[in-house]
Amino acid sequence: MIINMSTLANAEEINHVIDRIKECGYQAHVIQGAERTVIGAVGSNGRRAEIEALRAAPGVEDVIQITHPFKLVSRQLRQRCTVVDVSGVKIGGGHLAVMAGPCSVESAEQLMETARAVKAAGANLLRGGAYKPRTSPYDFQGLGVEALRLLRDASEETGLPIVTEVMSESDVEIVSEYADMLQVGARNMQNFSLLRKIAGSKRPILLKRGPSATINEWLLAAEYLLAGGNPNVVLCERGIKTFETATRNTLDLAAIALAKELTHLPVIADPSHGTGLRSLVPPMSKAAVAAGADGLMIEVHPCPERALSDGPQSLDLPGFAELMKQLGREPLREVKAA
Ligand code: PEP
Ligand code: MN
Repeated sequence: MIINMSTLANAEEINHVIDRIKECGYQAHVIQGAERTVIGAVGSNGRRAEIEALRAAPGVEDVIQITHPFKLVSRQLRQRCTVVDVSGVKIGGGHLAVMAGPCSVESAEQLMETARAVKAAGANLLRGGAYKPRTSPYDFQGLGVEALRLLRDASEETGLPIVTEVMSESDVEIVSEYADMLQVGARNMQNFSLLRKIAGSKRPILLKRGPSATINEWLLAAEYLLAGGNPNVVLCERGIKTFETATRNTLDLAAIALAKELTHLPVIADPSHGTGLRSLVPPMSKAAVAAGADGLMIEVHPCPERALSDGPQSLDLPGFAELMKQLGREPLREVKAA
């Protein structure tokens, strides 16, 4: 970090900043310019927040960060791409993961029909909401544990591992019992007590980007998970809020490419929530893969017009199969019968 002293700073103020830098575990490098003094705080294991607080010290004009505040998720720490294994399905490092399924688990029939179809079309994980974060309390809230049981049955029949959202700390244990991968939803990206709790689960985690979160905040949320002891984290860009109203969210493709530069963790895209419009899901899926995404999360429903949530952005079964074909996925010849 760089501390820019004011042009009016006196020797006592400069020496105070140098002393504080050393106390915080850094080395101080002083550059004496014609007009002002600039001091670099150098080192990797110091107390960063205390250096940032020097903004309030007398004679300091500004404190400028030159390195990222995250460590464990950073590509500077680990050059090689992390590959996350979800019950045998690899995400990252050249393996394109496709997580597909309904927004909400609604019934055994709806889930099983979708699971068989997405498996046959080439998906390798099954998604489905059991606990739903709905904007209105009057909307369908999900079937809870019943949905978890249905997801497990569908997984047993198709062999697809399950990814499903955990909304609250109190559900982490039960969801971990049934699911292969735990999803932290966009609205919970900065629920730090949930992040701490879920970090203790043995299950891999899918961390969605908050609708108003910066890339820095998203990576710091992932840092909570790694710092809490869970290295198996996949990031998911699912669209952010902008001034645009023609789409539900703005799928931030540049964020995918940039996140892949900044972190070794896999990054996937959710073009369903990212656009809110079925017709945009195929082109944005392809665009996300072109931008470097390690996978896709796609909402699929056997009859989107009857879906209890997110029908307008859900692909129907033939639509999903067509997209998989366009992405070069081999459809399965045969799916294990019930
Ligand atoms: C979902 O994937 O079902 C979901 C609710 O997504 P998000 O948290 O991105 O809104
Ligand atoms: Mn949804």
